[in-house]
Amino acid sequence: MALRTIVTVPEPVLRRKAKTVTEFDEKLQTLIDDMVETMRAAPGVGLAAPQVGIAERVIVIEYFENEADEESEDPENAKKRLYTLVNPEITRASVDTEIAAEGCLSIPGVMGDVERHLAITVKGQNRRGQPVTLKLKEWTARIFQHEIDHLNGVLFTDLASKVWKPEGPVEDKV
Ligand code: ZN
Repeated sequence: MALRTIVTVPEPVLRRKAKTVTEFDEKLQTLIDDMVETMRAAPGVGLAAPQVGIAERVIVIEYFENEADEESEDPENAKKRLYTLVNPEITRASVDTEIAAEGCLSIPGVMGDVERHLAITVKGQNRRGQPVTLKLKEWTARIFQHEIDHLNGVLFTDLASKVWKPEGPVEDKV
């Protein structure tokens, strides 16, 4: 495994529509492994392939299995779940939405308030090409919406009602 360089705006790959993955080959496995390592090192809680300069429809996300754990006294040891999804597509989205602040690894030092669906269903494939359906809610659903936007060349600053530069570090970047 190897760390990849996270590209930042205005790198053109961040604005391209990423290509559907058709070959679940060794190259894809290496890309996914590298993306997980790069996400963890950043650190971030999600990463889309265009963020490492690859215009293909691959995302990795690692977040708390139980969202309450983020607030626990021992968040370092709270159980996290790693998601790897190829060719993800949102097939259902709740009418209910929520506005919350996001940050992005590809737009350093900036946060923005973004309205997202509270719950979504995502279909795609795992790293071996087998079909996967995920039902997601709250912050995990938000991260998926952010990463899937990356595959379509959309950045959170396009959607944000307000963008600002926080004084401290941006947490939970995606
Ligand atoms: Zn991002």
